[in-house]
Amino acid sequence: MVKPTKLHDMLVYDGHMYQYCKPNVADDYYRCCQSRSKVMAKCSASINISKDKTRVTKEPTAHNHLKQSASAPIVKRLRNNTKLRVINEPKNKPNTILLEEVGKSCREDNLKIDDGSAKLIPNYNGFKRSLYRYRNKVKPIEPQVTDEINLTDYRFINTNDAKRYKLFDTLDDTRMICYASNIGLEILSKSTEWHADGTFKSAPRKYKQ
Ligand SMILES: [Zn+2]
Repeated sequence: MVKPTKLHDMLVYDGHMYQYCKPNVADDYYRCCQSRSKVMAKCSASINISKDKTRVTKEPTAHNHLKQSASAPIVKRLRNNTKLRVINEPKNKPNTILLEEVGKSCREDNLKIDDGSAKLIPNYNGFKRSLYRYRNKVKPIEPQVTDEINLTDYRFINTNDAKRYKLFDTLDDTRMICYASNIGLEILSKSTEWHADGTFKSAPRKYKQ
């Protein structure tokens, strides 16, 4: 009867989605997911369910909107998971994360990209743009002049296992910063041939690397 989704703080009941709001002594209080909607009329419906999520202890009050499609909670979780991963996994591209999460929802939750779920992702590109906005919020600000680059912090000088990593920093007008570990230098010194390559495309604007 009550079908909690895998998201711990959401549940689906009779075609409506509810978000966990607060605990009571005997049960938990959930409010309709549209209770704080900015785009649709706010809905005041709520439901109480037992702590073990097996029984409805107070039937929901009336909603001011239609029932959601079956894919709505899956899409909502997909969007939440994607957003969280974009913030927590700075090394992975937002677009790659999004595609992985869509694939996962199709595989594990049988999400069908039908009319119902397409309406819930009304603008795929718009969602992608917002993912890049989340990413930019957690990215450090790009320096405008090289003097702004401050490498005094321990983590910018040493490796994770506390060994020296910064080799030199010229701190002049054509500032050059060099990183190399002792083991890396040792390998280089013993090699008869050196090959060089650079990731020019991903360098900050003031730098070539
Ligand atoms: Zn509602």
